[in-house]
Amino acid sequence: MGKDIGKEGSKMIIAKVDFVPKEKLYPAFGMYYNDGNIEVRDDLPKIVKLFVLYHEFYHTGDRAKNWIWREIKANCYAFLKCPLGGILTLILSFHPDRLKYYWSRLKKGE
Ligand SMILES: [Zn+2]
Repeated sequence: MGKDIGKEGSKMIIAKVDFVPKEKLYPAFGMYYNDGNIEVRDDLPKIVKLFVLYHEFYHTGDRAKNWIWREIKANCYAFLKCPLGGILTLILSFHPDRLKYYWSRLKKGE
């Protein structure tokens, strides 16, 4: 099952969105899996959840190889859709565990 939400040139395929306990994804806020499933932490403020959802939605239609470029594009897309959520997400991202998480992803290159 999938849904085309009309992004030009590519199809966004979303199988399922689940809101999951903090422990499952921490320190990440959300996750997009290659099978089309999206998970978002249910402990986050509503507007952050919305931002994270837009961010993960963007990943569903993105075929870029470079993960940093994928993250930049997904954040820009989500920011345009939900600027307040973006600002709050940014503020929440300055948590040491989040910064460590980004650092380890940078080192691993994924
Ligand atoms: Zn992402």
